Amino acid sequence: MRLNRSLAWLLAQLFPPACPLCSQTFSAGWTDPFCSDCLPGFLPLPAAHCPCCALPFAATENSAHLCGRCLKQPPPFRKVHALGRFDSSLRDAVHRFKFNDRVGLDRPLGTLLDRVIPTDIDIDLIVPVPLHRRRLQERSYNQALLLARELARRRQRPVAVDRLLKGAETAAQQGLPARERERNLHRVFHVQPPLHGERVLLVDDVMTTGATVRACSRVLLDAGATAVEVAVIGRA
Ligand SMILES: [Zn+2]
Ligand SMILES: [Zn+2]
Repeated sequence: MRLNRSLAWLLAQLFPPACPLCSQTFSAGWTDPFCSDCLPGFLPLPAAHCPCCALPFAATENSAHLCGRCLKQPPPFRKVHALGRFDSSLRDAVHRFKFNDRVGLDRPLGTLLDRVIPTDIDIDLIVPVPLHRRRLQERSYNQALLLARELARRRQRPVAVDRLLKGAETAAQQGLPARERERNLHRVFHVQPPLHGERVLLVDDVMTTGATVRACSRVLLDAGATAVEVAVIGRA
């Protein structure tokens, strides 16, 4: 026991805990996952945003109305919980996490994401947005799965690995206009084996048009989920 503590002390001297973005050593007693210089760059959503899909509004005042898209086509998910705007430090962190093999960012980003998801929502299963197999081979890891694992660890809930899968988008689909492509996107995702009334937390790193999370949510509900909530790091 004493040996373990000495070893921990020695490791802390050799490798003092540092900010995963700028490598600045944390000051004693610092408990946030990023340093005081980087943390302010994680911009929260503006007060005015869609209460359903978290789309930031241009208006500065907070008005709790749905965006045009959610009014016209109510989304299959209940709500999107977003850490912040896909901008500044947050965009930088997501890019490094996704493209620069900085897999160690899963814990710091997952810590911050966990803070914006209400503790009282009911979740039975955490499901990452999948990558197509070929993309997974190129990149060697799915950043959404790493985030899902971190949330699962914190929430003490199971994470569904390879339950929601992504097939190939056909060349014909890729040529379609955005709206039609979105209509066809749900055929790209499938769930196996079926679900049995689980309340799902769907996890992705970034949400831009929302086409992917809409398609995944639809497929999860069709496969037997009772409800889907969405958690993303950045909302564009
Ligand atoms: Zn920093
Ligand atoms: Zn909306």
